[in-house]
Amino acid sequence: MAFRFDLIQGSASGPRLGRFHTPHGEVRTPAFMPVATRGMLRGHPPTILRPMGVEMVLANAFHLYARPGIETVEALGGVHGMLAWDGPVLTDSGGFQVFSLGALDRVHEGGVRVEHPVYGGVVDWTPELAFESQRRLAPDVAMVLDVCPDRPGDRDQAAWAVERTLAWARTQRRLHEKHGGSGRGQALFGIVQGGVFPDLREACARELVALDFDGYAVGGVSVGEDHAARMAGVEASTCWLPVDRLRYLMGVGTPLDLVEAIARGVDLFDCVFPTRAGRFATALTWKGRLHLLNARFRDDASPLDPDCPCEACQSGVPRGALRAGFKAREILPMLLVSQHNLFFLQDLLRRVREALAGGRFEELREEVRCRWPPREPGPRPERARFKPGARPPRR
Ligand SMILES: [Zn+2]
Repeated sequence: MAFRFDLIQGSASGPRLGRFHTPHGEVRTPAFMPVATRGMLRGHPPTILRPMGVEMVLANAFHLYARPGIETVEALGGVHGMLAWDGPVLTDSGGFQVFSLGALDRVHEGGVRVEHPVYGGVVDWTPELAFESQRRLAPDVAMVLDVCPDRPGDRDQAAWAVERTLAWARTQRRLHEKHGGSGRGQALFGIVQGGVFPDLREACARELVALDFDGYAVGGVSVGEDHAARMAGVEASTCWLPVDRLRYLMGVGTPLDLVEAIARGVDLFDCVFPTRAGRFATALTWKGRLHLLNARFRDDASPLDPDCPCEACQSGVPRGALRAGFKAREILPMLLVSQHNLFFLQDLLRRVREALAGGRFEELREEVRCRWPPREPGPRPERARFKPGARPPRR
């Protein structure tokens, strides 16, 4: 069997230690996937990944469809060739990104009509097209196209998203079976929606489990809700998922969210947070966040994180120089801090796995809670308003 999730330790809804087997190798879980949305890490060569302990990478099918196009990625050897990465790859179907483009009011029965992000004009991004694109991109794990609501507290919107998500999940599950299932070397994961409503999450999870996916994701989180609501949504999803399948929490990546989601039975994560924070001069450390633009770092000759063995910290570039470089819009500080942050999260997940194996997870969880207290979400950008039953625009 090409895919298998071995649960080494843990239960259905508590913290778990596992091993995910794919045609491109194994992933020790809990694990964090760096994000290569357009088929490459932003600013880093793929050679930095193995030494920092990365075992799986995420790319985005919708973005690769838009540019360079499926045929080109195929010619480059699929998504593994494009990434120059021979380990496991997961592609997101693009649901979240499509809806980030403000397409929520352009969902119709058969898909979502969205503006082409590169060439303009209209793309009908359907479950069939998302499935076929990922089949040809050839990642180890493909995700179903789902509907990702932008207001998790709006019950009508959440219920409608679950209904569409399930209808599309059935279509994609049938296509997966028609093409030989995971035996052909690609797994397909379902995505649990339902906003902050436990009953909707339960209904969605149960129906997806009945469809028997190779693994399950928790979607529709980290869209503006606070930490407590986010974790309630996670818990209301994982508790219905089968114990012997991988669970993946989409788009979550602060240390607190990672550890708290792991405590609720999540095995896999991805997020742009570490690299984005790095590009905006924020370093993640065991002493909390460091905002390098802060004036107190101006004359600071110490390395970024004196306790960190990563290449960026070992490069010797002092905090004061990083601050000056950020101010001068140099590229190097962005790359160094982003590389350090990627290392920090890999190191955190390694510590989590060791703590789970050694029976010390609760101690580590407490330390992360102290270092990374929850922060209220900032103001949300204005998004297109949701109109249930809205028809797609005419071409
Ligand atoms: Zn470092």
